Amino acid sequence: MSAGPWRQLPAVHEVLATPPMQAAASQTPRPLLVEAVRSILADLRTRLRLGPVPAAELSPEHIASVATRWLAQHAACRVRSVINATGILLHTNLGRAPMAESAACAAANAARCYVNLEMDLVTGQRSSRQHLVREWLCRLTGAAAATVVNNNAAATVLVLRALAANREVVVSRGQLVEIGGSFRLPEIMAVSGALLREVGTTNITRLSDYAAAINERTAALLRVHHSNYQIVGHHEEPGTAELAGLARQRHLLLIDDIGSGALFDLEPWGLHGEPVASRSLAAGADVVLFSGDKLLGGPQAGIILGRGDLIQRIEGDPLMRAVRLDKMVLAALEATLRLCLDPPRARQEVPLLRMISLPAEELRQRAEKLTRGLQDLPGLSLQVRADHSYVGGGTTPNQPLPSWVAVVQSSTISAADLARRLRLGQPAVVARIQDDSVLFDLRAVFPEQDDALLQAIRAALQP
Ligand SMILES: *Cc1c(COP(=O)(O)O)cnc(C)c1O
Repeated sequence: MSAGPWRQLPAVHEVLATPPMQAAASQTPRPLLVEAVRSILADLRTRLRLGPVPAAELSPEHIASVATRWLAQHAACRVRSVINATGILLHTNLGRAPMAESAACAAANAARCYVNLEMDLVTGQRSSRQHLVREWLCRLTGAAAATVVNNNAAATVLVLRALAANREVVVSRGQLVEIGGSFRLPEIMAVSGALLREVGTTNITRLSDYAAAINERTAALLRVHHSNYQIVGHHEEPGTAELAGLARQRHLLLIDDIGSGALFDLEPWGLHGEPVASRSLAAGADVVLFSGDKLLGGPQAGIILGRGDLIQRIEGDPLMRAVRLDKMVLAALEATLRLCLDPPRARQEVPLLRMISLPAEELRQRAEKLTRGLQDLPGLSLQVRADHSYVGGGTTPNQPLPSWVAVVQSSTISAADLARRLRLGQPAVVARIQDDSVLFDLRAVFPEQDDALLQAIRAALQP
């Protein structure tokens, strides 16, 4: 075959010199730009082999515009911001808690600069990175000592390993939980080297069950917050204070994995029965564990509170080095803890706490405004109705927060298809599907995103 028709094709560098490719170059690694252009040119070569192609399609500008679409599909940033219209505030698949502005700034600042991560600026001596958050954690919870690691799963493994490896840890059968994905308590315990000693039954475990299981190999009693499930009906398990009494009497440790980890009582905001870190310590737990990115509303982290000698043993474990926090997360965590020192301020500035306390009436008005913005589009059935948001992320599941949702149904686009278009839009939107409608709950949508959400829905509804 003659090379004739291919001569009509521009060279790669000619396409790269066009304005759209120059614009893309500022945000795209050059090898991806080149790959995009080569892939379009390869397609054109194939087509030219089969027959003539309109000259307009062979111009560098046209090839550039096709390459731009290729780039959008194949070379866009993989981490994208998402508008969370699901009404689930701590959506683990969407990165759990969005951080406070001061926390995000602290992380960005630490990222760009050198920081006193492990240096005491007073003495110039080496210090522990844990000092950056320890004092605030102790102040907020009344703990004697504290340390932080990568997440609560890491905290659990580390604590069990440091305090109970090769010894037995007594756990109620009602608390052998799976917290989504790969956190299954029996497996986590196996990894730690502690030996699981199950007691009681799924629904009933008495203090006497714990007492009967204690022997010379026992190191600790472990209590695990149910987090994402609830036993309804005939149910009994000893509280922290009772377990602490037994542990003390038998010279054992009580480890309390409180999971979601509120720093203060969220009862006034309608969240009932969430464990509060300071209360667990006051009730006598020797070590308390929880996540940084659940009800604390901060970055992913595992927080460990407890007696000084125990925290020292935990920090001395070789695994500590494998699960330590980096400077950005420590900076963000510190900023979040500082906000929490002033609860009314935390309620304004920590997005999660602000979202929990949003009045339903405000959400109704925003949902109505959203549907008004769609009224001119043909073939839509629109409705605003009462519904519920959830905190999610391993907090008590049966605690709906009263909310309102905008319900959108299209006569031409299925709910699944509309939801897909929304996810792939710019910005990406994740909503809820129910009865072939798409539901938008605005509790986890920042008010300043309302307009972008409306435009994203309008764009997704284009035929
Ligand atoms: C969420 C949760 C965990 C896991 O915490 P991560 O920070 O996600 O690792 C462990 N235990 C309980 C009780 C939880 O609720």
